[in-house]
Amino acid sequence: MTLDTAPQTGFPIPAGVFAETVTEVQHYTDSLFRFRITRPAAFRFRSGEFVMIGLPNAEKPVFRAYSIASPSWDEEIEFYSIKVAGGPLTEHLQKIQVGDTVLMRRKPTGTLVNDALLPGKRLWMFATGTGIAPFASIIRDPETYEKFDQLILCHTCRTAGELTYGRDLVTALKADPLVGEMAGNLTLYDTLTREDWPRTGRQTDLMASGKIFADLGVPTINPDDDRGMICGSIAMLHDTRAALEGFGLEEGANNRPATFVVEKAFVD
Ligand SMILES: Cc1cc2nc3c(=O)[nH]c(=O)nc-3n(C[C@H](O)[C@H](O)[C@H](O)COP(=O)(O)OP(=O)(O)OC[C@H]3O[C@@H](n4cnc5c(N)ncnc54)[C@H](O)[C@@H]3O)c2cc1C
Repeated sequence: MTLDTAPQTGFPIPAGVFAETVTEVQHYTDSLFRFRITRPAAFRFRSGEFVMIGLPNAEKPVFRAYSIASPSWDEEIEFYSIKVAGGPLTEHLQKIQVGDTVLMRRKPTGTLVNDALLPGKRLWMFATGTGIAPFASIIRDPETYEKFDQLILCHTCRTAGELTYGRDLVTALKADPLVGEMAGNLTLYDTLTREDWPRTGRQTDLMASGKIFADLGVPTINPDDDRGMICGSIAMLHDTRAALEGFGLEEGANNRPATFVVEKAFVD
């Protein structure tokens, strides 16, 4: 449906932007929530890509990059979001309700896509915080299970409530009729840095000590078998990139597939 003005605010919808309706909102913590919007029939994307979104609350709305957390086959679009106090977009976005309008630019993009990786045996996905969002898309896409024998999703946060989105997602996925059986090859390895938890510590430290490989019962990462995708803060990307390069992996891009790829979860 094409709208000229936003129903709630009366502000004009900018040209070339989809105006979609919120269908579901779920809050996890004071600083994290997920929401789903209707999907325009003309909107195509590859699992793992991001898109610019905004709210129709001003003549010239603020747009921010958001990873699409739903897979490319889904009838709706899901996002997983931070709530930044005083953040130009999220101080308003965190208040959205079912029936509200969200704006979405038409062109998705990104490097965390299956096409940017050479075929391999195991896909490692390294995420901190909302960096899990693109992987929520990728682990729900049957194509990923066709390309890799084993998927390992590593998610690290500060406190336990911040792991709920990933844990619920993997539990629901394993019970899903479409990809549930394939998702038997998916392992969630989540760790905390500020609270007690069965596994604690940073992913890079757990790789350096070898604990992560021992816990999972897999060999140390090597360029013949392993492929990596990384999504987190700039500091996390820096450290994880160095760790993977230390194991002999090489960074790739859409036009030059290699053995690992990287995307910022946010700009510091
Ligand atoms: C490629 C890309 C994909 C992104 N995907 C997502 C996503 O899926 N979900 C999401 O919540 N955000 C995502 N972001 C961040 C997003 O674009 C916004 O920065 C965020 O929504 C906050 O917007 P804001 O206008 O309220 O505040 P901003 O002015 O954009 O941010 C204010 C400050 O908040 C901090 N911050 C911003 N985003 C985050 C975050 N996600 N986690 C921790 N601290 C943060 C940073 O220190 C930043 O300087 C992505 C950013 C990039 C570059």
